[in-house]
Amino acid sequence: MKIVLRDLNEDEPKELQAEYNPKSLDLEFVDLKYEGPLHLQAMALKSQKTLHFWGDLTARVEEICARCLESVHEDVDRPFDLFYETEDKEEIDTLNDLREVLILEHPVSFLCRPDCKGLCPQCGCNLNLEKCGCHAKTQETKPFSRLDQIVRRVKEDSSNG
Ligand SMILES: [Zn+2]
Ligand SMILES: [Zn+2]
Repeated sequence: MKIVLRDLNEDEPKELQAEYNPKSLDLEFVDLKYEGPLHLQAMALKSQKTLHFWGDLTARVEEICARCLESVHEDVDRPFDLFYETEDKEEIDTLNDLREVLILEHPVSFLCRPDCKGLCPQCGCNLNLEKCGCHAKTQETKPFSRLDQIVRRVKEDSSNG
């Protein structure tokens, strides 16, 4: 959002609203899709040398869990609080900072819940929803336990000889 400074009266907060197309702002990630427009609800307050711009960015998003790959639909609310120097300026372009708020708030790897069990590496089933027998099987055929048996046998042989 571009804020034209002469549109604001000094020390008089002004309410601002806007709607953005998330696609045009290049906000989507592999694991994050916007399901509707991005809404901005903000206040702008100009004082002698600074502009205080604060509010909320809200949107309906679809996020993909990094562990189980299930998609989660939720409403996100990203508050922001920005300050700008206004000396010798006619307008302030806040769009890049708003983009940054949204990008920095998005976790590096999104999880559907903190204790998500993820997918079974063997059969691919979602371990949050079902139990498979794969884990038990891997315990039995673990390469280390076989190695253990061989070592034990070698020891027994040498003690006999
Ligand atoms: Zn998950
Ligand atoms: Zn499995």
